[in-house]
Amino acid sequence: MRLCRFDDNRFGLVRDGFVHDVTSVVRDRLRVPPYPLPQGDLLIAQLDELRPALEAQADGAAKLPVDAVRFLSPVANPSKIIGTPSNYPAHASEAQQDPQISAYQHAGGSIEQQGLFLKAVSALVGPSEGVRVRFPQRRTDHELELGVVIGRRAAEVAESNALDYVAGYAIALDMVIRGPEDRSFRKSPDTYAVLGPWLVTADEIPDPGALDFSLTVNGELRQAANTRDMIMGIARQVAWASSFYTLHPGDIIMSGTCQGVGRVLPGDCMEAAFERIGRMQVPVY
Ligand code: MN
Repeated sequence: MRLCRFDDNRFGLVRDGFVHDVTSVVRDRLRVPPYPLPQGDLLIAQLDELRPALEAQADGAAKLPVDAVRFLSPVANPSKIIGTPSNYPAHASEAQQDPQISAYQHAGGSIEQQGLFLKAVSALVGPSEGVRVRFPQRRTDHELELGVVIGRRAAEVAESNALDYVAGYAIALDMVIRGPEDRSFRKSPDTYAVLGPWLVTADEIPDPGALDFSLTVNGELRQAANTRDMIMGIARQVAWASSFYTLHPGDIIMSGTCQGVGRVLPGDCMEAAFERIGRMQVPVY
C-alpha cells in the first residue's frame, strides 16, 4: 500500500499513477485519544487496523493523477527525525576531502564513533512544499537518503527482528547547511527535512538493502547508488537507535547519503528517484 497526504491535508492511496482519495476513512475512523496525546503519529500508529478500510475505500474513490496533486509529508507528526551519518563509503571519503564538510568536529569517525543525530521535527515538509534555502550566502547541500518510518513503539529491540517495527519507506532529503556548528543545528531549518512522495508499506519492500536511487538537480545527475552500499543496514540502525531512545510510530530515520552531495540554490529543482518507491520533484526557493 502506498499512502500519501496531499493538497489541503487530504489522504490518498496511490495506485497506477493515480491518487485515490481515502480522506473520509481518516476523518471518520481514526481514534483521537484525549489530551495529552501519545507521542508519535496517530495515523501511522493505527495504520494496520485502518488498512482494510483504506483499501476498500480506495477501490471506488475519486482519483486524481499523481501529477495533479501537491504532496505533503506522508507522516504528519513524528516525535523524532533521526539521522545516520557517513553510511556510504564513497560519501565518507568525499566528506573527508571537503573542508566544508569535514569542518564539523565529529566528521571523519565511524558511525559508531559519531553516533546518530536528530533533526528538528519542525523542519519536516513534503516534496511539493519545496526547500527554502536559509542563509543563501552559505552552502546548503542535498543528501538523498532512504527514509525509514517506524510503525510501532520500539525500545531496545534486537537487530534480528528490528524490521518488524518498520511501517514503511519513503524518499528522504536530509538538507544541510555546511559549516562548523553542531550538525543538528545546521540540519534543522524549516524545510530541511523532506519526506515523500508517499509511504510504501514494508510488505512491498521486503529487502530495503537492495534499492537503486538517484538524484538530479536541474536535470544533471548528482547522486546515484544502491542501498546495498550502506555500511550499517536498516535493521541495525533501528536496533541501535532503539537502544538509546524509544522509537514511536511515525518516527523517521534518514539512513545516510551516498557520494555526490552538492549545493542547491534558489530556483533549482531536485528530482529524486528510489526503486520500489517512486520519484518526486522538489523545488528550491
Ligand atoms: Mn544525511
